[in-house]
Amino acid sequence: MSYLNKTVSYLGMIGLIPLVSCGGKGQAVPNEQSAPNVIYVFPDQMRNSAMEFWSSEKYAPHIRYKGDPVITPNLNKFADEAVVFSSAYSNTPLSSPHRGSLLTGMYPNQSGVPLNINSTRPFNSLRDDVTTISDLYSQNGYNCAYIGKYHLDAPTPNDPGNPGHYVEERDPVWDAYTPPEKRHSFDFWYSYGTFDVHKKPHYWDTAGRKHEIREWSPKHETDIAIDYLINSKGQRDSSKPFFMMISMNPPHHPYSSLDDCMEEDYNLYKDKTLGELLIRDNVDTTMAKAASAPYYFAQVTGVDREFGRLLKALDSLGLTDNTIVVFASDHGETLCSQGIDDPKNSPYAESTDIPFLIRYPGKLKPRVEELILSTPDIMPTLLGLSGLEKRIPRNVQGENFAPYLLTGENASSLPKSALYIRNLDGAKDENGKVISYFPETRGVKTDRYTLALTINKETRKLKEVYFFDNLADPYQLNNLKPDDYPAVKEQLLNELAGQLKKTDDPWYNEKILAGMIPYY
Ligand code: CA
Repeated sequence: MSYLNKTVSYLGMIGLIPLVSCGGKGQAVPNEQSAPNVIYVFPDQMRNSAMEFWSSEKYAPHIRYKGDPVITPNLNKFADEAVVFSSAYSNTPLSSPHRGSLLTGMYPNQSGVPLNINSTRPFNSLRDDVTTISDLYSQNGYNCAYIGKYHLDAPTPNDPGNPGHYVEERDPVWDAYTPPEKRHSFDFWYSYGTFDVHKKPHYWDTAGRKHEIREWSPKHETDIAIDYLINSKGQRDSSKPFFMMISMNPPHHPYSSLDDCMEEDYNLYKDKTLGELLIRDNVDTTMAKAASAPYYFAQVTGVDREFGRLLKALDSLGLTDNTIVVFASDHGETLCSQGIDDPKNSPYAESTDIPFLIRYPGKLKPRVEELILSTPDIMPTLLGLSGLEKRIPRNVQGENFAPYLLTGENASSLPKSALYIRNLDGAKDENGKVISYFPETRGVKTDRYTLALTINKETRKLKEVYFFDNLADPYQLNNLKPDDYPAVKEQLLNELAGQLKKTDDPWYNEKILAGMIPYY
């Protein structure tokens, strides 16, 4: 039903825009004095280098690796209006753990989500008893909307259209329906768990009705988001500010055919050679996955277009000046770098380094920012920028960088590193369900180095070391021996010890690798 109707209704709305934005008391809603709206757009698996502006003279000096040969005109323009983070880091570069930290301001050991969510890991689910960013905004007078992939709620047999059953047949179950009591104050809901058919997406709405769509998902989700802005159906209380998260699945796999992207975008890349598309020094273009490069970049360009359409609607509605807009991702994509098929969940830069751009007109001065931003910092920082710093819960582990971003104050106390985390399945019960997680790898990334230590699951002894000088070796081709650099090794292990203590990590509590890491 609804997609055609939706398009028609949206086109019809264009003419209504001036009425909406001039409605009520004769000015845009909300007015300049009110709390800012917040829009958080985060496509899935989009690496930091996949933004065209990084290749320009203005931006290239701020990152050490080459920008991808990708076309993103809307992000290029947005970057000039935003604070562009060069060192935003997905600490646990995997869908569910990232999202858990994003919503709670906590590391995966406390968010409830140390592992990727599916039905084999029922314990692994966003905590019901935690106050999320949406709970906080809602408590402070906001309408809260969630559109797109959620992947924070462990699947249970709760299909609203087929009670007592999961929402999909496959085993394990990945997709999920999130009922109202698990939505953490999102009062507008148009979402699903995880599902990777980009041109046949589906969503459950606020009332639990399922919508099966025949359209590329980022386009459809942007239509839903724009309609929310227009408020054509009274989706929100226009006297309140709003907090809206839009989680697009592309540029997530699959990326292998025109079923996955828009043809107009694919046409921009189809005649380029793999050598022209995959330009990082650490790439292996002979991998089978290399054929996905034009489709991956086509998805990025499509996401860019939809993001641009959203910004344009915001402009048309007179909402730009009082709306904080973030563009980010949950983790990166290796795309044949390092010779690994896994797109994420590794300490390599392609996996951990994410886009993070934040625009707050008149409040945040556009610039490139080198602050090492960790995922749990995002929630308190957004609340701080929204004037809600006093409402940040005490148990939040991330830091509120709003004062620094707004004024440049406290620059001397900025973090010197970000913590890297990779967990594996731990113990299983008699039914084969995972009941705990194993903290396999911990590490730090500083402004220069990456150090990550992996332990053996049985012996808990050191198994593998990743150690890179990202300044001398931005593509992480030379895995160095820490013992050859004793002073750096000591500095990084001290930094790691501090991070593990601060975050109350299992490594700290169990004193893992105590002979090596100087716990105190
Ligand atoms: Ca993901």
